[in-house]
Amino acid sequence: MSKTKPISSRPVTEDKYRNEKGILQIVQDGLCHHCGACIGFCPVGTFGLDENAYPIQVDKCIDCNICVRDCSGIEVDYDGIGTQLFGDDYQYGSFTGWVEESYIGHAKENKLRRNGASGGVVTQLLMHLIDTKQIKGAVVVIEDPDEPACGKGIVARNRDDLLRSQQSRYTTAATLAALQEIQKEDGPFALVGLPCQVHALRKHQMFSSSWKRRVPIVIGLYCHFTLPMSAIKETARTLGPKRERLLHMEFRNKDPRGWPYNTWEMTFNGGTVWRSPLDPGQTFNVVSRVTKLGRCLQCLDATAEFADLSIGDPWIRDEDGNLKYETPEGWSSIMVRTTKGSEIVQDAISAGKLEIRPIPLKEIQMGQYQMMTEKKLQSAFRIQVRRFLKIATPHYSMRLPQASHKIIKTEIAFWFLRTLPFFRSVSRILLWVGFSKFGTWAIVRRQQRRKKRFATGKVPIVDPDFGVSEKRT
Ligand SMILES: Cc1cc2nc3c(=O)[nH]c(=O)nc-3n(C[C@H](O)[C@H](O)[C@H](O)COP(=O)(O)OP(=O)(O)OC[C@H]3O[C@@H](n4cnc5c(N)ncnc54)[C@H](O)[C@@H]3O)c2cc1C
Ligand code: SF4
Ligand code: SF4
Ligand code: SF4
Repeated sequence: MSKTKPISSRPVTEDKYRNEKGILQIVQDGLCHHCGACIGFCPVGTFGLDENAYPIQVDKCIDCNICVRDCSGIEVDYDGIGTQLFGDDYQYGSFTGWVEESYIGHAKENKLRRNGASGGVVTQLLMHLIDTKQIKGAVVVIEDPDEPACGKGIVARNRDDLLRSQQSRYTTAATLAALQEIQKEDGPFALVGLPCQVHALRKHQMFSSSWKRRVPIVIGLYCHFTLPMSAIKETARTLGPKRERLLHMEFRNKDPRGWPYNTWEMTFNGGTVWRSPLDPGQTFNVVSRVTKLGRCLQCLDATAEFADLSIGDPWIRDEDGNLKYETPEGWSSIMVRTTKGSEIVQDAISAGKLEIRPIPLKEIQMGQYQMMTEKKLQSAFRIQVRRFLKIATPHYSMRLPQASHKIIKTEIAFWFLRTLPFFRSVSRILLWVGFSKFGTWAIVRRQQRRKKRFATGKVPIVDPDFGVSEKRT
């Protein structure tokens, strides 16, 4: 198949968005997903973060337009970035992007494995790279010390920093703002990022060889969505005790039963601890139903397609519908995309830091079926509807797949539920019901029914290509 043609030859960045005002317009148009790139790459520190972690102007601007050029909220040139990373054979068009090898794996150090969101692979790899002086540090996310409902990007340079960064924070985190700290420092550094954060870094690296050298290692995370910190605060207010303030939160706190029961725990200043009765997937599903997910609903990347390595949970089920890799210590699922990614994994194995097992890519796709369908097909449909209605939309320079009747029906049901967050009191009631004994019972029952559907083969097998086939070497 020949290369897809750009839909429009005129890049968005030459249109209405320019310089610092362009960034503020992007925020106003609802296209900002809080990656932090406009802060991290600005040469003169024009932007800081406001109380909702959106960029806010704090200093003068020198009109270089770097911020708008790098913003992945308004534009991602998949074919351009993909071709540069993977060569001329790259073409947008599969659920998982370009993948060379696929594994499940876990950290060999018990503490890192038990403390990780899944198998502690991300932190184990970074620890090994820092210990062996292959990198000076890594951009990671910790709980914001001033606002526990928010994540904060830092440059981790030692073991303690890395330990603080373990576990996923399913909340706003302008991670790339931390790049400001290393703007004038020689690398090499690594970066752990969500797909949209990886896009912004890669966009910048397309124009800057010094940033290619400064951040030569990119570890991406799978990502269904991020909950806005306002939703996290609202949930804490609804489910937490009255008159107590949120002090600390762990999104993947390890329960004595271990993975996959490592779920959300909120600690309040009066000593009250609220713990979700549901596993992490169901917990964040409930919250997402009553939350405005904003720009995430137009995101096309489920698995950080432009990272060297992409890592997520192994939500993979066997033929009886049970989680195939369920073990209290946890495993991570790993997709290796580049030669650099492969070298990092092999080096960690040789040093006795990492254990992996090859698994078919199809298993990973099955495990992420719902998320990938939403990202690749529903999001594409949403974007086309928004374009038709002339609502601000991110610019993607490739042809998007046509929606089937099934996708359109799913989308209608999806939006019917999404009208609820517009009524705050309804949202609060639904949150309360979702985590009540009745809600938990209903959700667990639904999961059991789903498990049975799996066992009887009623969950569809995923076709990894959705209309545009990917060439492979
Ligand atoms: C917002 C979000 C959504 C996700 N959605 C899915 C999903 O739908 N399906 C799935 O299988 N996996 C998803 N993941 C990935 C999964 O939760 C784990 O992060 C992954 O399995 C790595 O686990 P680990 O034990 O190897 O990493 P750990 O050793 O626990 O390290 C976690 C790393 O994640 C980084 N991190 C944490 N929060 C953020 C953040 N908000 N932004 C950037 N970096 C962050 C930390 O800096 C740390 O380096 C998501 C992660 C996040 C943060
Ligand atoms: S100086 Fe450049 S990067 Fe910074 S805000 Fe202005 S245009 Fe954007
Ligand atoms: S998406 Fe990223 S680069 Fe764009 S405005 Fe938001 S924080 Fe800035
Ligand atoms: S869903 Fe997309 S836009 Fe939203 S946080 Fe994840 S990668 Fe970023």
